[in-house]
Amino acid sequence: MKNVPADMEGFLSLQPWWRTEVPTEIIRSREGVGELLHRLEKEKKNPFFVVDSVLRNQPVFAPLFGQEALYLFDASASEPKTGDVDTVVSIVKSRTTSHDVVVGIGGGGTMDLAKAVGICLANPEPAHVYQGYGLDMKKGADIWVLPTLSGTGAEITPIAVLRGPEKKLGINNPYTAPSVAVIDPGLTSGVRKYNRFFTLMDCYFHHYEIMKSATSSGDAVSDALDGLFLSKGILTSGVEEFRMDNAVRSAMASILGGSSTIGGRVGAAHAISYGLSNSAPTLPHSVAVTIAMLSLGDIYPDGCEDTITFLRINGMETPKARDFGIGADDVGKMTKTALGMEKLWQSCFGDSWKERATEEYIRGVYERIVSR
Ligand code: NAD
Ligand code: ZN
Repeated sequence: MKNVPADMEGFLSLQPWWRTEVPTEIIRSREGVGELLHRLEKEKKNPFFVVDSVLRNQPVFAPLFGQEALYLFDASASEPKTGDVDTVVSIVKSRTTSHDVVVGIGGGGTMDLAKAVGICLANPEPAHVYQGYGLDMKKGADIWVLPTLSGTGAEITPIAVLRGPEKKLGINNPYTAPSVAVIDPGLTSGVRKYNRFFTLMDCYFHHYEIMKSATSSGDAVSDALDGLFLSKGILTSGVEEFRMDNAVRSAMASILGGSSTIGGRVGAAHAISYGLSNSAPTLPHSVAVTIAMLSLGDIYPDGCEDTITFLRINGMETPKARDFGIGADDVGKMTKTALGMEKLWQSCFGDSWKERATEEYIRGVYERIVSR
């Protein structure tokens, strides 16, 4: 990737840097909060806001906390649950005016909650019924987002990942994609190092796995290669302090994560992470994928090596499954979950995936993970 901008000026004047066609209008701004509110007013929208409650302490977000149609989501307590979606849907439906747009403001967790609320407003069943792929769903409210943490690509993807009563799985539907994303890299300045690091790790894993995938489109692989270059650069330069040049590049890498996900697919590390997440309610997604990648040196040697390097350079402790309550007793259940991730194994191993992603192989990976 050439001419990577190092500041806001360069970011605002850059030509679109992604190749895959995305369903989202991407608005770049140095005044994201004001631009979002101005645009909503100009378009005569009646928004309902879903906002990460942690932002309350940061003055730049103050205009949002004065809004009356507002739900505060505590993303530090848990990833979004199907029950959270049902709660917010019933709040929105009980209001006297009808809202035509749900606006998600926060990291991937808060944006996914807003995305799920947007679509579920027009679909009568509880949210957990819609976890899956290719289900027949109606279009709900419009979905707009303002990311305050870069890396997941959730600002672009037609996926809302949710923890449900039985499993962690997304609502995967074109009507779950945001129609507008306002991108202001400066809004990420208050993020803790731990979150900046692990969310960028997830960004790196998306690009790495999509780049290696046997089923990704050519454009998705090109987007993933650029995203890999950007995320590797940031993770090797160190994420200790907020830096505007890294914030700009993180926002760019995150959008590439969204675009490459649309035309591509992640692989084994994400498949293994879903088994881990299902056995540990408090395990963040990005940490789960890190634990998975560290045990996949046989199929992703350079990805595993990079992960060790990024942890070391950034002075982060190596995360362990047992710190999240996962032990040998969980291996059977985790193996069953990961075996069900057929599309991800096909993405990783190509046509011969059934011979390679066997129960024995997957069990072996989890045994390595719990013995660390
Ligand atoms: P997150 O939304 O869970 O936030 C992590 C932490 O950072 C939280 O404590 C949050 O309060 C805090 N935070 C966010 N913005 C902040 C700011 N500006 N200042 C201070 N603190 C801030 O983290 P994430 O990694 O962005 O998202 C993870 C979620 O996204 C998971 O639920 C995962 O499953 C999902 N995900 C979705 C997609 C998708 O395509 N939809 C892709 C990858 C991951
Ligand atoms: Zn991920």
